Amino acid sequence: MYDVIIVGAGPAGLSAAIYAERAGKKAAVFESYTYGGQIVNTPEIENYPAIQKISGFDFATGLYEQAIGLGAEVLFEKVVSVSRVDGNGAEDQETPAEGGLPYFIVKTDSGEYNAKAVILATGAKNRHLGLAREEELIGRGISYCATCDGAFFKGRDVAVNGGGNTAIEDALFLSNYCSKVYVIHRRSEFRGEKEGLLALQAKENVEFVLNSVVTELLGEEKLSGVEVKDTVTGGVKSIPVDGLFIAIGQAPDNAAFSEIADLDRGGYIISGEDCLTKTEGLFTAGDCRTKQVRQLVTAASDGAVAALAACAYIDKLA
Ligand code: NAP
Repeated sequence: MYDVIIVGAGPAGLSAAIYAERAGKKAAVFESYTYGGQIVNTPEIENYPAIQKISGFDFATGLYEQAIGLGAEVLFEKVVSVSRVDGNGAEDQETPAEGGLPYFIVKTDSGEYNAKAVILATGAKNRHLGLAREEELIGRGISYCATCDGAFFKGRDVAVNGGGNTAIEDALFLSNYCSKVYVIHRRSEFRGEKEGLLALQAKENVEFVLNSVVTELLGEEKLSGVEVKDTVTGGVKSIPVDGLFIAIGQAPDNAAFSEIADLDRGGYIISGEDCLTKTEGLFTAGDCRTKQVRQLVTAASDGAVAALAACAYIDKLA
């Protein structure tokens, strides 16, 4: 029986583990992929308080080592369900404890674990365009991670699709070693930060293709170009590129928890700044929950809030 099981080893989940362990609780973190979440794909973080500049990978590794060093276990297994057993031994998501102590059953793809409290910190995954052959061309020109795959396109022409911070950062990163970078965005205004956009606009090998959407992926075995449609004029043109980096935001993946926690229409876990869900003893943290600002610092902050709330809940049970 763990005190706290945390689902997701991104910045929110690992911060929660640090706070739980420092509060004297035994924490286990479950992760289906690799530690760090989305931040490992960020080349440079420059907006985390007190850290001038750090790569996303180094930041994530520091968090991971800190959590492990404090005693947290990190298990690389995919969590497939979470259910609550009430004080009488019946699986029930909302009944408060009577008699014995309530606990959670966490099932993974390879085992079953128990915990007194659970924190869902599942983050969000890259959104896909939904175009024909998009999935087939992943790794053959289509990528969702410039830091991971950018080096394969050295000296070649590529495109980045999106207008947020990720697209701006990806385009800046790629412009350092690709011959040409097209930035395709469906509007003329960018939602990403101005500083990055100004740096991108100053690059000679970057061309903006605004008010435009990608309508077709060209090429047989691998990507050879994209067809884009101008949303103002309706005009269609082909842009020859070897790579298309899709950076159109993220979507959560919380379907497995839709009975034990309420989800909003976008699939995010409904919770306030207190990180509570509708189920007693079940908390949520980071990008997977409903919130206004999804940043590294708010994910870490959520981790602390959720872990301390979980610790207080456990102390009340005893
Ligand atoms: P985002 O801010 O949600 O931006 C997604 C972009 O993709 C928007 O420009 C959006 O266009 C466009 N888009 C969405 N769906 C589309 C579709 N179907 N077709 C074409 N374009 C589409 O996502 P993000 O850039 O990944 O950033 C996510 C969060 O992480 C944000 O809060 C961001 O600030 C944060 N972040 C921060 C940093 C940093 O601080 N260093 C780095 C990366 C990310 P519209 O603008 O027209 O909606």
